[in-house]
Amino acid sequence: MTLNNGFEFVFEPGACEECKGKCCKGEKRSYLWINEDETEALSRYLNMNIDDFKKQYLYLFEKRWSVKDIKVNGMYQCVFLSGETGKCEVYDVRPKQCRTYPFWKRFKKYPKELFDECIAVKKK
Ligand code: SF4
Ligand code: SF4
Repeated sequence: MTLNNGFEFVFEPGACEECKGKCCKGEKRSYLWINEDETEALSRYLNMNIDDFKKQYLYLFEKRWSVKDIKVNGMYQCVFLSGETGKCEVYDVRPKQCRTYPFWKRFKKYPKELFDECIAVKKK
């Protein structure tokens, strides 16, 4: 169980097994911001040079890089979410935005959004 001060919930990641990546997809296109260090780590992990990696997996939005999402069965999902297992294919080097989920400032303000999305969080 992961606890994090200042949030009104606890996170139990064991539930992710049955969820299959709901936080990595959505009805609308979303932004998964990635910085230069993370880009380098991911491209190295995938054994690609950075330019090819960016071309294949990232796009620029208002001068910031985001990981691409793809449309599957009417839903947008992160390009690194495996369709077969529902797991992250780059889990060990996923960007900070993923590693800090669900402890995002946004969910302090709008906890209901998180409770509707994630079965691994429980009220304290
Ligand atoms: S939405 Fe919650 S339970 Fe589902 S994969 Fe993401 S963190 Fe795990
Ligand atoms: S990088 Fe991995 S954890 Fe992050 S949104 Fe994509 S599939 Fe999910």
